[in-house]
Amino acid sequence: MDKKVLHDISYGLYAVTTRNENIDSGCIINTLTQITSVNPIVSISLNKDNYTNEMIKKSNLFAVSIISEETSKESISKFGYFSSRDTDKFSDVDYIERNNIKVFNDNICGYMLCEVINCIDTETHDIFLGRVISSEKVSDKKPMTYKYYREELKGTSPKNAPTFEEVKNEDSEYKKYRCTVCGYIYDDKEEKIKFADLPEDWKCPICGVGKDAFKEVF
Ligand code: FE
Repeated sequence: MDKKVLHDISYGLYAVTTRNENIDSGCIINTLTQITSVNPIVSISLNKDNYTNEMIKKSNLFAVSIISEETSKESISKFGYFSSRDTDKFSDVDYIERNNIKVFNDNICGYMLCEVINCIDTETHDIFLGRVISSEKVSDKKPMTYKYYREELKGTSPKNAPTFEEVKNEDSEYKKYRCTVCGYIYDDKEEKIKFADLPEDWKCPICGVGKDAFKEVF
């Protein structure tokens, strides 16, 4: 199999949020598809280990916000790389309340509220089919594509994402280090300073964690 073929699949970037028993959760996905147009149905896919997956199974209701090129990288990192199990993702991210759900609202294009009509088991992930029960376009900003996120913002796919890829280091001369939170790779070969020589207060450029959250890739 030539996995490079998969790199040419195009995606957008979205924030999915839900609430169950007064607990809010949310995460970033790149897998939203409109399935039907009359009484629109959309699908999203979420890893089974993902807390938001667990919550949507209980609440049967989720919001999806369409991220724009003006959405801050910090908000995307907060929702994308940390777990709602131990992080209050909404503490410093703009949101609006709709149908008792906190809808991610940092420079988005618009959002939809969806009622779960089916959940399909696909090995590591579940696909939720949701009926759009309401939606609002909130700006004319340009929707962010996954390609833009990867190439312009140097964003990465964390371990739970369908597009996550393992990285190996076959170079014996230079070392590579992976951020255990966001998956960002620090490659000594491409940097002016070797990872080992970075100052102790250096932080991951994508998710902001310290050096100690990095592990060498072999
Ligand atoms: Fe990181």
